[in-house]
Amino acid sequence: MNEAAMHKIQSIYGIENWSNGYFDINASGNIVVRPSQNDPRSVDLKKVVDQLVKEKKLSLPLLVRFPQILTNQLRTLANAYKESMQLFEYRATHYPVFPMKVNPRREVVEEFLKESSRLRLGLECGSKAELFAAVSQDQDPDTLLICNGFKDEAFCRLAGLALQSGKNVVIVIEKLNELKMLLRVAETTGVCPGIGLRAKLYTRGSGKWASSGGDSAKFGLTSSEIVQCLKLLRNTGHFDKLKLLHFHIGSQITDIKRVKNAMKEAARVYAKIHQQGAKIEFLDIGGGLGVDYDGSKTRFESSMNYTVQEFANDVVYSIKTVCDEEHVPHPNLVTESGRMMTAYHSILVVSIREEIETFADDEPEVEIDEDDPQVITELKWLCDEINGKNYFEYYHDAVEHKDELHTQFNLGLISLEDRAKGEVLYWEVCARALKEAEQARSHNEEFEEVKRVLAAKYLCNFSLFRSAPDSWAIGQLFPIVPIHRLNESKLDFATLVDVTCDSDGKIDKFVDLKDVKETLELPEWKADEDFYIGIFLVGAYQEVMGSYHNLFGLPNEAHVFVEADGRYHLSKIVQGSKIQDMVQFARYETSSLIANFQRRVNGLVAKGELSETQAQSLTRDYTEAATWSTYLEG
Ligand SMILES: *Cc1c(COP(=O)(O)O)cnc(C)c1O
Repeated sequence: MNEAAMHKIQSIYGIENWSNGYFDINASGNIVVRPSQNDPRSVDLKKVVDQLVKEKKLSLPLLVRFPQILTNQLRTLANAYKESMQLFEYRATHYPVFPMKVNPRREVVEEFLKESSRLRLGLECGSKAELFAAVSQDQDPDTLLICNGFKDEAFCRLAGLALQSGKNVVIVIEKLNELKMLLRVAETTGVCPGIGLRAKLYTRGSGKWASSGGDSAKFGLTSSEIVQCLKLLRNTGHFDKLKLLHFHIGSQITDIKRVKNAMKEAARVYAKIHQQGAKIEFLDIGGGLGVDYDGSKTRFESSMNYTVQEFANDVVYSIKTVCDEEHVPHPNLVTESGRMMTAYHSILVVSIREEIETFADDEPEVEIDEDDPQVITELKWLCDEINGKNYFEYYHDAVEHKDELHTQFNLGLISLEDRAKGEVLYWEVCARALKEAEQARSHNEEFEEVKRVLAAKYLCNFSLFRSAPDSWAIGQLFPIVPIHRLNESKLDFATLVDVTCDSDGKIDKFVDLKDVKETLELPEWKADEDFYIGIFLVGAYQEVMGSYHNLFGLPNEAHVFVEADGRYHLSKIVQGSKIQDMVQFARYETSSLIANFQRRVNGLVAKGELSETQAQSLTRDYTEAATWSTYLEG
């Protein structure tokens, strides 16, 4: 690939803007993945997918994980805090914890825990199930196990078990009543974990999750509740259990200004509590560190206007300044960044199955007859005469004629054949007008709409609801790029639809440096060639929040490990859901479904409508179908 071609492709997909150094294009026009930034080693993603499809017989969609990226992101985070702590002479330690709700998969949690002793990585859980999984994991005894979220007595008992099994547990109190309950449980069981208080800050985050902070937030204690908690702890002799102050102003904070304000406010609360004689030693700043999904480095919802280092610097500096003013020791800093740690490590690879025709684009040339209605001859005339000077006006005329065409059809004045002819001509005028508009570099809104309608619609083998639910739920953007053929210069415009029977199962918003694109540039799709597209940065939240809409199941999955010599190996393959798994999810028993099927065909045998052998063969086929993939195959 020459430099100009590379430059063009970069400006279309902006890979270097959002890749965080992990993704790039190689000389053959394929996407490569690096295990860490500035790493000479890289893996050709197309080769990985080919191997999975051809050798391992896995069908698409495929979730490809790079566990080394998880570790590298954690190191990036830890290094950023280490550097700012050195820079600002911060006299305490960083304790990262991984919030399990972001990606509770065993492989992800265990990968992080490999760094438990080196980087003091602990875990954060927000439910009993997360805690149950966390309790039996091996983590360094010095690291934290933080319990957030709303709790009942069982949750507190489980936390007590964790404590007794050697975990450094802190239960973070969300409500005054929760503290009363915790103290009750502690009294009966005789064990009391460390206690944290979650403060409701006045400062709000920014972006989609701004309402996680501020006065009306769902979580946390108001100032007066904190005062009451302190009183209760003192009166019950548990004041020395108070270890931590927690807050979380929302995920994907887009604007760094909010971070500084929140830190100053929280540090002040910490200082006041410390001054009352509490042995509080941790300040837990929650998550919120963003991921620049569109690479624009702005306050836009799918972006952020700061770097990880800048975030860490602002956190450390703001807290240090307040603590020095208040003459209290610097607290150990707990971070609960989950999105930043996991987003990059997995890629969903989907294949294009088909083009969905929305208008007639490869119709034969329309011939005009003598007796064609006037509306058709006029559309034909527009089509023939449209040019760079009149395209705007002729396009408007065509829109009018198309309305007229449909009115006449509805009144029974013209035939179905006439209507078809008229529609083909109308779309031809649109296509020609769009070409003129593009040539004139016009950015007219009207033609953006025409472009969207004329764009190819590709049916991709995946479920948006399963694999990228935030795209549907909150309009979050994910970078989407073909994983091969990036050296081709002829590109068409397209939007993508998934295989669910849901009209919301589509992607028609794409990352762009300045704006949001409504169509994606793609090399020409050919029906007889495999064409793979990667949906990137899906490692945070998407897996666990994805749902089984239409009973489409988990995709097949492969873990790729890059060796020191640059070669890679597949460290793990996880089979996706089979049909039987998904019917089980909807509470059918596969065995009784098969038994019932058999009973029904036997009924037909009894009536003489099927032969014995036919019935047996049908049952055999039905039984086998239970093991098929839920996605489109072949
Ligand atoms: C969701 C959540 C996190 C993780 O936030 P990210 O923005 O993904 O880093 C951390 N702490 C708490 C309390 C949360 O609810």
